[in-house]
Parts: sequence; C-alpha cells; structure tokens
Amino acid sequence: ARKFFVGGNFKCNGSLASIKTIVDGLNQADLPSDVDVVIAPPAPYLHWAKEHITGNVAIAAQNIYDKESGAYTGEISVSQIKDVGATWVILGHSERRTLLSESDEFVASKTKFALDNGVSVILCIGESKEEREAGKTLEVCNRELDAVVAVVKDWSNIVIAYEPIWAIGTGLASTPEDAQETHKGIREHLAKVLSPEQSEAIRILYGGSVNGKNATSFKDCPDIDGFLVGGASLKPEFVDIIKSRS
Ligand code: 13P
Repeated sequence: ARKFFVGGNFKCNGSLASIKTIVDGLNQADLPSDVDVVIAPPAPYLHWAKEHITGNVAIAAQNIYDKESGAYTGEISVSQIKDVGATWVILGHSERRTLLSESDEFVASKTKFALDNGVSVILCIGESKEEREAGKTLEVCNRELDAVVAVVKDWSNIVIAYEPIWAIGTGLASTPEDAQETHKGIREHLAKVLSPEQSEAIRILYGGSVNGKNATSFKDCPDIDGFLVGGASLKPEFVDIIKSRS
C-alpha cells in the first residue's frame, strides 16, 4: 500500500512570526506516524523551519535551478536547499508554469537535477479550466509527465501532485469522483510509459482547495494517495487534513 502523504505549500506567504506559529502548531499536534508530512515554506524560512520543527515533518523548497552553482542571480541551488535541511522540492507548480513561463522541458530538467542530487520531487501537473472543458485533462497531464519520463526513468523519489488549475485557490475543489477518474488515468498512463510496478508504487496527490472539512471526502478514492495543500496549510486545519485518513 502507498503511504498517505500530505504536503503544505505555503507559496509566497508568511513571515518569521507566522511561520513560527505554524511550526509551533505542528510541534504540538499529535501527528500520526503513518503519514508522510512535508512543509514548503518560502526559501528565506527553510533553515529556520528545519531547525525548529521537532516531529516527523520533512522540509521542501518551492523551487530550485538546474545548475549546481554560478552566475544565476536570484536562483537557488539543490546543494543550498540540502545544506539547510530540505529533502524535497516542489517543481512544475502551475503558478510557475503560467506566471513564470516554465516549460515542460525546464520542469523536467530541474526534476532530473534534483533527483540526481538526492532531493525528492513533488511534481505538479494539471489542466486549466479551458483545457478541462475541451476534454483535454489527461492529454495535458500526460504531456507534462512525458517530458519528465523522457529524462527520468526511476520515479521512486517522485510524488505527483495533480492540481487542476481551476481548483487552486478558488474554494472549488474537484469532486472526489472527478479527481479519482483523473488519478486513475494518470496511473494507467504511467503504467504504459514507465512500468506497471512503478505506476503502482507512485503516490499521486490531489491539490486544489483541500481543507479540513473536505479532505475526508477523498478517503475512499483508491488512486488518491494524499494532498498538496495551499491556503489551508497556513491554518490549524492543516492538522485535520494530515489526520483525515486516521
Ligand atoms: P490551495 O489549497 O490554496 O487551493 O492551493 C493548492 C496548491 O496550489 C498547492 O500547491
């Protein structure tokens, strides 16, 4: 069975004071041991978060660059996030694909670079509202995945986050039925392009307006292995999401 996974993507939110409140809350919560919990604070707070988190909570960066170091002003290297204690990185988030024009190939290159350097990847994929309405949901997801398949063959340190763009930050989460159908399609595709064994083992998270109330409604979806949470990861209800399968 795949281990339940809950990630908190803080995005570009917070301050030292507010992140301290979140970390204190997680430290005081009685988190179940059978859940992988990962938090992704903004880069300036990664080190502080790593130093102060006490429980079984891993730290993720929200981005890296695909070069070791050098004249890349404003970028963050894999060795730097590792140095401050991050073991994961979020890549391919739709906010970066759209606002910062990251291509499928660039996301794939960064994914390979992170994995080659020992950092696990939360790889985000997902379609826009227009693409969904045109019936292109799986076509878009598969295209984003195939760019990574072209350069990475061992997916054991990748977790996929399916985040339909229309559900992100809108309060309009996908229905469990729709999300399950897409997750199943993604898994079937991975079985073809990777292998049935890898496809069966890989965790596919749902992301998009998950909160403390709706998290339990995804409980019986066999292909939904956890969540990537934005807004609600900044609030005490994040703990309810982590406990939603307990
Ligand atoms: P929200 O949970 O705020 O909709 O964001 C989801 C997301 O983009 C997580 O990466």
